[in-house]
Amino acid sequence: MIVPVTDEKTWVGQLVGLPTFNLGTTPMVVISPHPDDETLAAGGLIAAHSDRGRDVLVIAVTDGENAYQENAGLRELRAQEQEEAVQILGKGRVSIVRLRLEDSGLHKDVQGLERALEPHVSHGTHVIAPWTGDYHPDHETCGQAALEVAKRAGARLSWCFFWTWHRGTPDQLHNLDLHQFRLNTGLQQRKRDALACHRSQLEQANGEPILPESLLAPARRGFEVFASAC
Ligand SMILES: [Zn+2]
Repeated sequence: MIVPVTDEKTWVGQLVGLPTFNLGTTPMVVISPHPDDETLAAGGLIAAHSDRGRDVLVIAVTDGENAYQENAGLRELRAQEQEEAVQILGKGRVSIVRLRLEDSGLHKDVQGLERALEPHVSHGTHVIAPWTGDYHPDHETCGQAALEVAKRAGARLSWCFFWTWHRGTPDQLHNLDLHQFRLNTGLQQRKRDALACHRSQLEQANGEPILPESLLAPARRGFEVFASAC
């Protein structure tokens, strides 16, 4: 069983009084290193922005094909699960671009990732990307590439978090401009329904699932956390 470095109660105590995140009205691009990251870290945000009639694009950077050692067919399965999840979050209005880069290999070619992200980011875009310190090489590389591309385009960039909640401590976030985005019960339910689509991560015939209960608590909070990067 995976035991978080900081327990969920401590996190919530630290995060609950944060100022409100400003969603804005501009088109949003959500960078998802692996299928399920978009839902876990920003599912409520995607749903809320799309409900307001704003454009949301999810960039699926990898298909998460290396999550298991026995991975025959996993690429297609996870891509399909992500399509279903995003369909629920966006009620059919959110599209996905698949980059099909190598799961667990993004650090080998950061510039290649930047080139792949560039066509989707412009001056008026709000980019949501994993924090550069999110305790997973693919997440951190996505954050670095997003920062470069957003700076070049003059786009707004906000960090989102997943592995930080399990491997990090509140001290490590002290320099970040953190905000919370509250989710009403409707948004919380849609996020739960979307999360349930990622079946390959929630149940596994042989051994522990990739996402055991202990990793899901932050995704069930009544808010999501973002930080303004630029
Ligand atoms: Zn991930």
